[in-house]
Amino acid sequence: DSTSFAVRVAPLGGMGLVLVLAEDQTERQRVEAVRRDFVANISHELKTPVGALSLLAETISEASDDPEAVRRFTARMSQEADRLTKVIQDLITLSRIQGAEPMTDPVAVDLAATVEEALDAVRLSAEAKDIELASGDFTGLIVYGDEGLLVTAVRNLVANAVAYSPERTRVSISAEVTERTIDISIADQGIGIPHQDLERIFERFYRVDAARSRATGGTGLGLAIVKHIMTHHHGEVTVWSKEGAGSTFTLRLPRPTTQEPGRSTNDTDR
Ligand code: ADP
Repeated sequence: DSTSFAVRVAPLGGMGLVLVLAEDQTERQRVEAVRRDFVANISHELKTPVGALSLLAETISEASDDPEAVRRFTARMSQEADRLTKVIQDLITLSRIQGAEPMTDPVAVDLAATVEEALDAVRLSAEAKDIELASGDFTGLIVYGDEGLLVTAVRNLVANAVAYSPERTRVSISAEVTERTIDISIADQGIGIPHQDLERIFERFYRVDAARSRATGGTGLGLAIVKHIMTHHHGEVTVWSKEGAGSTFTLRLPRPTTQEPGRSTNDTDR
């Protein structure tokens, strides 16, 4: 990778200046390439459902005397419309959150309610696959931040855990309070993520298996959104995974300082 070699030598010498310029150029080219890829990906993700919609509309108009065919094609149309809505929603969330200013007015967020809301959003799809949703005790756990965004982060991870797991498995969500952080882990017994893909899955539109992601209704933006939400909260997201065995994603958030209660009940050190 030509952008990673160190060229911060001899800044005053002619050669040094050339090298520094060369580095800036490669970095600019890299940023530009990432931007071009992103725009190409957006076009593709939007054009595909729109293309399907117009094809389906055309087919329906030709099959208008066959009610069964009309019913099937309109069902497909509403699926494609849902998919389009999802991509657009995710793009809006991402563009709001990435590069956003650090939060100025964080509020106390009750993690028990956050987790409950995230789990509610995936309950139906879990039931359809007979996947057990097991939740640890989040009672009294508080972090400071934006409640809606935190629900989105947890929901995206739980939705992935369900989507990438076979039937009759378990998805568990648990909390761990450390000295400085509150960690929320979402563990599944699903397909896992190949080692070589692990560091790229947080990139926008990166998917290990694009066909599988689309089949489960994925947009390829879920983890990028999670990453930016964590950055916005001065937190981080990490992943452990083993192919064929499962994955665990952990959201690590700063623990409120003693002025701000971390656990509003059972807090023995005050
Ligand atoms: P998608 O909409 O495709 O799920 P994400 O950004 O949420 O997009 O995830 C990126 C990719 O990471 C997915 O396409 C999938 O390949 C992989 N992935 C995410 N979560 C899991 C998981 N819990 N188990 C296995 N693979 C996962």
